[in-house]
Amino acid sequence: MKKLVLLFLLVHFSYAQESPHLDYYLPQHLTYRTDIPTPKQVIGHEVGEWHVTHDKLIEYMKALAEASDRITFQERGTTYEGRTLPLLVITAPENHNRIEEIRQQHLRLSETGADKLDTGNMPVVVYQGFSIHGNEPSGSNAAMVLAYYLAAGEGPAIDDLLRNTVILLDPAFNPDGLQRFAYWANTNKSKNLNPDNNEREYHEVWPGGRTNHYWFDMNRDWLPVQLPESRSRIASFHRWLPNILTDHHEMGTNSSFFFQPGEPSRVHPLTPEMNQQLTGEIAQFHVKALDSIGSLYFSGENYDDFYYGKGSTFPDINGSVGILFEQGSSRGHVQESENGLLTFPFTIRNQFTTAISTLEAARNMRQKLLDYQRDFYSKTRSEASGSKGKAIVFGDEKDASKAYHLAEILKQHQIKVYEPAGDFTEKGKKYKKGYSYIVPRNQKNIRIIDAMFETRTTFADSLFYDISAWTFPLAFDMDYTEVNASRGDREITDLQLPKGQVTAKSNYAYLFEWHEYYTPKALYKILKKGIRAKVGRRVFSIADKTYDYGTIMIPVHNQHISADELYTFLQDVAAAAHIKIHGVTTGSATGTDLGSGQFGTLELPEVAILTGNGISPYDAGEIWHLFDQRYDIPITKIDESYFSRVNLDRYNVFILTNTWGSLGPHIQDKLQTWVKNGGTLIGYRNAVNWLKSNDFVKVDLRTTDRVAKNITYEQERDFRGAQVTGGAIFQADTDRSHPINFGYKDHTIALFRNTNIFMEPDEQSYNNPIRYTDNPLLSGYISEENLDKLKGTVPFKVQRLGRGKVLLFTDNTNFRAFWFGTNKLLMNAVYFNKFM
Ligand SMILES: [Zn+2]
Repeated sequence: MKKLVLLFLLVHFSYAQESPHLDYYLPQHLTYRTDIPTPKQVIGHEVGEWHVTHDKLIEYMKALAEASDRITFQERGTTYEGRTLPLLVITAPENHNRIEEIRQQHLRLSETGADKLDTGNMPVVVYQGFSIHGNEPSGSNAAMVLAYYLAAGEGPAIDDLLRNTVILLDPAFNPDGLQRFAYWANTNKSKNLNPDNNEREYHEVWPGGRTNHYWFDMNRDWLPVQLPESRSRIASFHRWLPNILTDHHEMGTNSSFFFQPGEPSRVHPLTPEMNQQLTGEIAQFHVKALDSIGSLYFSGENYDDFYYGKGSTFPDINGSVGILFEQGSSRGHVQESENGLLTFPFTIRNQFTTAISTLEAARNMRQKLLDYQRDFYSKTRSEASGSKGKAIVFGDEKDASKAYHLAEILKQHQIKVYEPAGDFTEKGKKYKKGYSYIVPRNQKNIRIIDAMFETRTTFADSLFYDISAWTFPLAFDMDYTEVNASRGDREITDLQLPKGQVTAKSNYAYLFEWHEYYTPKALYKILKKGIRAKVGRRVFSIADKTYDYGTIMIPVHNQHISADELYTFLQDVAAAAHIKIHGVTTGSATGTDLGSGQFGTLELPEVAILTGNGISPYDAGEIWHLFDQRYDIPITKIDESYFSRVNLDRYNVFILTNTWGSLGPHIQDKLQTWVKNGGTLIGYRNAVNWLKSNDFVKVDLRTTDRVAKNITYEQERDFRGAQVTGGAIFQADTDRSHPINFGYKDHTIALFRNTNIFMEPDEQSYNNPIRYTDNPLLSGYISEENLDKLKGTVPFKVQRLGRGKVLLFTDNTNFRAFWFGTNKLLMNAVYFNKFM
């Protein structure tokens, strides 16, 4: 038996060892121009022989653009690690000669007067994107073959394709992740390719190449656009409004190949039915192409088309057709699978083949796709003009920066935003100029506005591939409501963050309230400079101005710098953090005087976070990004692998973010000793369970056992899936006098939750500063059973352990960089834990 297996492997081994050749990928009925360089001639190896690094990929694409009059190469910006974000425009040379005219004409399809355009003569626009998950590399490697094919292919068919199509080729959606993965796969490659699943090559080290520099899943950021890669890409999307956008991924090694449509019951209701019909029609071209090369595939199941933050779903709300491809992954160069040996070249060939069948579909369905887009925008326009005179206002009278950041997202989606004519109150909320924005409903991208602002609590299906809600004004903790569009005065074309200032020089004290988004950044600069600062734990007023809970006070007397230097320094701080700092001339206040013990002395936070195996890189990356990019606060990432050797004494705050699996005893003992000696430990999501079972905290959790009744074996997966809270938005009541809520102006807050951890409230009401209401669901899906359990529980707790403290959050306050509304809860935990 053993011998037989060996023999089988050896036969396949020799197959896998053969160096792949370009001919393996390319259709053989075509001839190819000899004046166009092949990938090997430029990058030094065949496609599929090694994993292409991003720099080599760029080198090749530039060489093609140089050699071919069918291709232009654009650099659209850079990643966090400074890598180029390229875009290739590929079309017939005669189209290149009037490419701007073609683009303008294409955009007119979505404008008033589009009915006069003759779609019979217009090229179709196809955006083809690859490997947004860096460790799903067959896409980016196939992009080289695709670009070569389009540059070098000869004959009437390819000429016809290029005349009728403008191809926007985005060869690497995620340059930093692709580079990280190529390094891994290449450095572990053996001369004798080893398909053994246990081989190190197929087991990347933490955090892997899927994500970008800050460990974000970029295929969730198409709607929030918080990352530089997404910003360039979304700009290109709106610049061209492609008719088809493709998103090439990989899935598990034992899988075959998937193309959309996905689950029919899991399409977002705002997506037109015709979109799915077109997706189905395009799929027939993939069927034919994959049949012809003998590759297995599936469609119509598993994946969905619900969250507009994904690459294959975002186009669907924009009159375009998004297509998801998923190829079973060889992860490295060749791996054993249930379908036999899965080679890297094989995965590349399937991606290339479906990239070509996409273009064939686009060529054949050209006019239909153009007409669909025209029709989509015509319907959108009549919807928009039907709500003429109506608008949405959003804002926060205490936080101009946060309001700016939501307006910034709208602007990236080419949504028109207006400044209010003046301050006004609507439904009890105050909307101030500079702190709020008006979004008229009568505008082109009304569908994106709906997709961003709507709340939804009923669904056709109870399974979700990703989150079920993302209502942006809730994520930003904004006031928002419908108003008359006449509230808007001037369209904002030069959106800007508020200018910070110090109102007056003082010889006594400076004060700033804690509401503005960037106050944690300001406070860090102040404390880092060695300046004494205190936090007010009562509401007080001086000179007719009321200062809310959490106001920061900086006395002028007895600092290590002079009053003049302090004034100059605070001006810089105010400018950098976009806040207003008030100079006051007296310590006598209504409420609490500035010298009162109600002002607590603040310490410089020295923060560390656990990373590495057992920790979710997403959650850890969100926190790293928040500290580093938003607040300029250093945070030390400590991997569990060398945690035992680290002296924790230099830190006063340690963050244990969401855990995957369990952490070893070497973490538990050391961390517990550190807390008992006075440290503050902040634990998130699953870490709550770990901290409970390892005796850091005593919490009562509501359990969620549920017994299946009348559920068949076939229905088991759906039954269990329906109990998953994949990501929804819930309301909690807050006690504003508790330091965890400093800087929040209202008595309620919206929280993002994707766990089923339900903490019982404390008997003493003052120990429950945040508590879910009796009717907490604001937007998204949760099962009835879990919703019942959630009511009245608490998402946050503080407990003492020795001389230290443990702070628990069951919810993610930093979700995907766009949950601006709850970032301050973490910052309050970091700065004010001493007073809890
Ligand atoms: Zn993927």
